[in-house]
Amino acid sequence: MRTDFLIIGGGVIGLTSAQVLLQAGYRVTLLERGRVGQEASWAGGGILSPLCPWDYSESVTRLTQRGMNMFSEAASQLHTITGINPEYQRSGMLVLPPYQTELATQWCAQHQVVLHHVNLLLNPSSGGRRALLPSPSGGGIEGGGLLLPEVAQVRNPRLLQALRKRVEMLGGVILEQHEVQKLEIASERVIALHTTQGKLSADTYIVAAGAWSKTLLGENALNMDIRPIRGQILLFKFDAPPFQQIVLKENLYLIPRCDGHVLVGSTMEDVGFDKSTTMEARDRLLKRVREIFPSWGNRMPVQHWAGFRPGSPDNIPTIGRHPHLTNLYANSGHFRYGVTMSFASAELLRNEIESKLQPFSVAEYRWH
Ligand SMILES: Cc1cc2nc3c(=O)[nH]c(=O)nc-3n(C[C@H](O)[C@H](O)[C@H](O)COP(=O)(O)OP(=O)(O)OC[C@H]3O[C@@H](n4cnc5c(N)ncnc54)[C@H](O)[C@@H]3O)c2cc1C
Repeated sequence: MRTDFLIIGGGVIGLTSAQVLLQAGYRVTLLERGRVGQEASWAGGGILSPLCPWDYSESVTRLTQRGMNMFSEAASQLHTITGINPEYQRSGMLVLPPYQTELATQWCAQHQVVLHHVNLLLNPSSGGRRALLPSPSGGGIEGGGLLLPEVAQVRNPRLLQALRKRVEMLGGVILEQHEVQKLEIASERVIALHTTQGKLSADTYIVAAGAWSKTLLGENALNMDIRPIRGQILLFKFDAPPFQQIVLKENLYLIPRCDGHVLVGSTMEDVGFDKSTTMEARDRLLKRVREIFPSWGNRMPVQHWAGFRPGSPDNIPTIGRHPHLTNLYANSGHFRYGVTMSFASAELLRNEIESKLQPFSVAEYRWH
């Protein structure tokens, strides 16, 4: 089988990379160690924004903002073409205190991000912007909050199913249960991948193996610094969404889905490749949720899972060509915001491959 590109990794980054390259007319084969879309990209919350965007560098801002701007159209096309609805919705995000009011206000003004200072009420009866936290509960918060009304969310498992179908519809080949074990290299080029199912070759190779990218590359990773950062999430179920906006308080977020599920996350744990869930994390998340919504009382999660973020310094991914191996590229290390960045990151990767002009400086994402 002859192919132009072999992509290693079937998460949101591998799939969006495959889609973009197929749309450009290349032949693409994607290799996945297990089943497509079962790791970080499945486990994540699907918030399409950094949590407090004013806490991040311009490199993160540029990539996340471009990704966010592309998402609505990309999700709607996926829905139309594949029939699978990724449930993109601009639900808004409500930030509860404590936060840095001045920093947030200035940052939003500078970056043309809509921000409302709002009052939070126990009872939503007054309507409009003040009606922010209809509690499932009758309990809740009084005081001020910040509302980012344009923040959207997507439902990860559905997004992944739609992307997979789209890649296949475009003629991409997806090979599951194909773990890449070794890169065969000669004359500063990758000449084959050794997988659990045999050897495969292409003109060009892309590493999109998330948290595993550095381990897979071994000494060829050079100074790429990616390591797994475990995140745990609890899932609750209500008859109807108990509130409309994503709610963020410090590092705790609650994401209401349209069918009444609410995701509560998450932890940030540097524990290697250990994907266990822990009672300690569950109890800590539960305690914090009950502080916001006392009347959740003894309501228990219906599911609890963990995933590995591809942790990178300052949350800056590596997108681009290997400094020495001329036909090897990376699209890895998106850490907390890989879903948000995915479409933009795939676009930058394709521009790099085709030596096209980039929409902004990509120096910080390069593989040094
Ligand atoms: C709890 C949690 C909450 C999150 N919330 C958000 C959020 O709200 N918004 C947001 O934008 N992002 C969020 N993220 C981050 C986001 O999920 C990740 O940045 C993103 O999914 C990374 O995508 P990926 O494709 O690089 O990695 P993955 O989805 O992990 O995919 C990598 C794939 O590579 C495969 N692979 C690995 N090694 C090999 C090999 N040797 N051979 C073949 N295949 C291999 C793996 O099996 C895997 O399927 C969250 C993450 C977690 C864990």
